[in-house]
Amino acid sequence: MVVKINNNMFRTHNCGVLRIEDVGKEVVLSGWVQKVRDKGGMIWVDLRDRYGITQLIFEEGKSDPADLERVKKLGREYVVKVEGSVVERIAKNENIPTGHIEITVKHLDILNSSKVPPFIIEDQTDGGEDLRMKFRYLDLRRNVVRKNLELRHKINQSTRHYLDEHGFIEVETPVLIKSTPEGARDFVVPSRMNQGEFYALPQSPQTFKQLLMVSGLDRYYQIVKCFRDEDLRADRQPEFTQIDCEMSFVDREQILETFEGLTKYLFRETLGVSLEQFPRMSYQEAMEKYGSDKPDIRFEMHIASISEVAQGKGFNVFDQSEAILAIVVPGAAEYSRKQIDQLTEWVRRPQIGAKGMVFVKCLPDGGYKSSVDKFYSQEDLKNWAQTTGAESGDLILVLSGPKDNTLKAIGELRLEMGRRLNLMDAQGYRPLWVVDFPLLEWDDNAQRYHAMHHPFTSPSKEDRHLLDEDAGSVRANAYDLVINGVEIGGGSIRIHDRSLQQQMFRLLGFTEEEAAAQFGFLMQAFEYGAPPHGGIAFGFDRLCALMGGSDSIRDYIAFPKNNAGRDVMIDSPSAISKEQLDELGLDIQGFTH
Ligand code: ASP
Repeated sequence: MVVKINNNMFRTHNCGVLRIEDVGKEVVLSGWVQKVRDKGGMIWVDLRDRYGITQLIFEEGKSDPADLERVKKLGREYVVKVEGSVVERIAKNENIPTGHIEITVKHLDILNSSKVPPFIIEDQTDGGEDLRMKFRYLDLRRNVVRKNLELRHKINQSTRHYLDEHGFIEVETPVLIKSTPEGARDFVVPSRMNQGEFYALPQSPQTFKQLLMVSGLDRYYQIVKCFRDEDLRADRQPEFTQIDCEMSFVDREQILETFEGLTKYLFRETLGVSLEQFPRMSYQEAMEKYGSDKPDIRFEMHIASISEVAQGKGFNVFDQSEAILAIVVPGAAEYSRKQIDQLTEWVRRPQIGAKGMVFVKCLPDGGYKSSVDKFYSQEDLKNWAQTTGAESGDLILVLSGPKDNTLKAIGELRLEMGRRLNLMDAQGYRPLWVVDFPLLEWDDNAQRYHAMHHPFTSPSKEDRHLLDEDAGSVRANAYDLVINGVEIGGGSIRIHDRSLQQQMFRLLGFTEEEAAAQFGFLMQAFEYGAPPHGGIAFGFDRLCALMGGSDSIRDYIAFPKNNAGRDVMIDSPSAISKEQLDELGLDIQGFTH
């Protein structure tokens, strides 16, 4: 990137732009000392800024003796300004864009010193995650981290451009809102002026964007911070960013088209990648074939049910299982006992939760070797192979148990085998829409339904009549955008009718009073001409990580929190003073400061 900087007392050029054509120019550069090499008589300094590295040269006998004094004092990360002229290098460095030139320095100013940094500021650093987070401002000096922020910026700008071109207007919605029990846990903020009462930080601007549709704004977007007090994982942060959108007078088709368009535009503009039309898959198909509502379709290895051919042969474990599910691992019949034992251990880990694993090797001679040879004849195992589509040389892996858990477990096993066999790499980006989610999810613990998406999602037209008799089977008019097994976005057509919304709250176990207390404002708005509307939100951090080729969203957030939800740099969260607590009217038992 060539950035034009103002020619001022600190610099005429940045550290990334000078080329062989500039030889002879008098220049002023400022930046950080990356490296000093003193070869006795000759001293080279690598000067770094956001744009690159330029080599400086000092020479005994030629350079100003005062400068030579100063250059000997330089350490890593000192901030300096130099004046000098551009000369051609004798030993060229083809690895950097400025590698054909260097600067013979006529004057060196030390603008600031630096302590020795706690880790090396280079692409490959010796700093562990904790140390880098504590000194994140130094970590951000590293090219690899800065490039992630540059990518994020680019995706952000392209998003704004696309949505603006498509008539969306950006509206800011409040950050201090009201706590609601649905969804994740809220972060709350005590109110000083209304003691004993609390604001909540938004889990998303959902209700506000719907109100903006009632206002007639028609097409809204916001690149917005959301807050959820959930347990953290590599792809979760307590505060994260969404590209949040809503549209009026549209059906699902138009929403999918608009945001498929946005996704294609972002990939083209920022990565130069053109994506084909996104396939659609129902939630049911995703669960049955992939054991996941965010299927990674870069490879097949579909899940198959073998109950019909595996039950009734005297193998108790299978006979008593609700589901017996298999995947075929191509070419893996030669796996050793040790490799299979290791896989069995893998599926038994609590995160996967399988009790055990059965395998069948489809041998090259047409025979079969399995861990259940005692119960199944060669003919039986041939039936398994036929049912699953396994061929000689393949390995069939089988898990059994309650349907939902077994689907999820074998879905994980499928992904693990995909990783082990490198089936995902080099497949590029494979987006799809997952549609027709169930509207409700039964919560055994609470003995009630939860909204699978959120309580404002409309049931599909075809299933609406089932709401009273068989609510659990009603499908939602909801959709998720999934790319390479990562859920990038999700949304729905909303309920815009007061009585349907009320019915939904009833199904979710709200009394009329509770619904009115929490969402009365929305239901009231629905009485004043709410247009049909729907929308979507993209997880912006995840999108950036995916497009940047990383699993960790932290790499794409300037100042992220760690797994315990802490910012180790500013040391937050932290205790507050007795005075602050008093002012807020908070009487915290056992509080010590
Ligand atoms: N507000 C929803 C969410 O945060 C997205 C949507 O339905 O538009 O998941």
